[in-house]
Amino acid sequence: MSRFIFITGGVVSSLGKGLASAALGALLQARGYKVRLRKLDPYLNLDPGTMSPFQHGEVYVTDDGAETDLDLGHYERFTGVPARRTDNVTTGQIYMNVLSKERRGDYLGATIQVIPHVTDAIKNFVMSDLNDEDFILCEIGGTVGDIESLPFLEAIRQIGNELGRERSLFVHLTLVPYIASAGELKTKPTQHSVKELQSVGIQPDVLLCRAEREVPMDQRRKIGLFCNIRPEAVIAALDVPSIYDVPLSYHAEGFDTEVVRHFGLLNEAQGPDLSTWQRISNTVKNPEGGVKIAIVGKYTRLLDSYKSLAEALTHGGIANRVKVELDWIDSEIFEREDAVHHLEGVHGILVPGGFGERGAEGKVAAVTFARERQIPYFGICFGMQMAVIEAARNLGGIVGAASTEFGPCDQAVVGLLTEWMRGEKREQRSAEGDLGGTMRLGSYKCYLEPGSHVQCIYGDHEISERHRHRYEVNINYKDRLEEAGLRFSGMSPDQQLPEIVELRSHPWFVGVQFHPELKSKPFDPHPLFTSFIAAAIDQSRLV
Ligand code: GLN
Repeated sequence: MSRFIFITGGVVSSLGKGLASAALGALLQARGYKVRLRKLDPYLNLDPGTMSPFQHGEVYVTDDGAETDLDLGHYERFTGVPARRTDNVTTGQIYMNVLSKERRGDYLGATIQVIPHVTDAIKNFVMSDLNDEDFILCEIGGTVGDIESLPFLEAIRQIGNELGRERSLFVHLTLVPYIASAGELKTKPTQHSVKELQSVGIQPDVLLCRAEREVPMDQRRKIGLFCNIRPEAVIAALDVPSIYDVPLSYHAEGFDTEVVRHFGLLNEAQGPDLSTWQRISNTVKNPEGGVKIAIVGKYTRLLDSYKSLAEALTHGGIANRVKVELDWIDSEIFEREDAVHHLEGVHGILVPGGFGERGAEGKVAAVTFARERQIPYFGICFGMQMAVIEAARNLGGIVGAASTEFGPCDQAVVGLLTEWMRGEKREQRSAEGDLGGTMRLGSYKCYLEPGSHVQCIYGDHEISERHRHRYEVNINYKDRLEEAGLRFSGMSPDQQLPEIVELRSHPWFVGVQFHPELKSKPFDPHPLFTSFIAAAIDQSRLV
């Protein structure tokens, strides 16, 4: 029988509700429980797939091909539980569901209202697709007081009421700011935020207070008194040097203890097994060296756009016991200036996923630099496509090589595919179709060529990785490009879609059509990132 933990946020956004939820999930797992994390997003878009990365940050893709909120990435990185389509819902999806039922006549002539129809749809979502988990953690996006969140808060209030306290718990994340001129931590914003939550009928059971410094017991008592909470359930969420210290810090402050106590599961003799998190934290704190990786991308102004990528590189560092310094470079710079000044001295170059023509030539210039100087190069999705275009132009003599993403061209080395196979199934899309949800999305199998560099890195012949792209490397150029020195070392099972390319005459040059960063975890770093960072360490010994 699953228990439900609802996590809301107050005072300001960006307090790290996603991380807080993920870390609590990890702590419950460390106590031996089966967990699942979900995100309810109050915005109207059906999913974040069509939102600009500057608006929303990264779009996290699940195995089953859903484009979801980046918090699902935190959940998966902290718990290792693969996120699914049914783990993220938005107001847009809820309304789409209600309105299509209305059109079908399923409501038998009733007037459709927020309560009960919209709230019921939200409740159904929360309670659906369960698999004997001990705990379902549901994070509500946005901040309490937002108009959009009201139906979600009403729905979780009802669930809490129906399940009772034995099976539900409300956690509220707030801010306890330190006001330097007064020399004090201030509790008033937390009091107001809890009042707001109480006004919609939710009494939080645990308060998680983001604070720059220790929250003394008298302040906790005060918060508890005003917010109707036991002082022990007022937990300080302190700033920590690495996000992977969060589970340890929360445990030290008593968060998971308070949660299991609430459910009557506190067994004093049996605390969580935190050895994995301790090991990760120690490795991050005590690196044996460092490497510098340049990330030549487009959305470098908002690092949330590359959240999983930055984490996967950190994981590669953990696997090699080094600190990975990231140098974010806007690729457009290379269209005006020589790449050399910016890339001289880096130990690895990575071109990540991206969309559109702006900055593309700058990325091609970065590939040229990495290829000619024999610097480890890792191209992900768009970064693979740019590597293929670079090789086609400069090694294969296909001067006009380009991608049809940038408009019609004579040598479409990268082009739009409207049909492909997924296992036994044919997937189709029309070139004029909607933008949302029409890419090649989710997990696809890939066969690795025996004896290739990537086959050695993965130590396997068949892999499965997650995709999110519209264009593909054009198989018709395969032979010419192979002759020029590019090896097509990973192919779709039907041999029609190039999934991985590598350069034969280069220490580490790999382009992948998928997003390996989505599956990397601190306790299970992705082999490509581990190997790339190892190559960067070798490079650092040369310069
Ligand atoms: N824009 C490219 C495509 O749609 C690459 C996408 C990506 O990097 N995720 O194929």
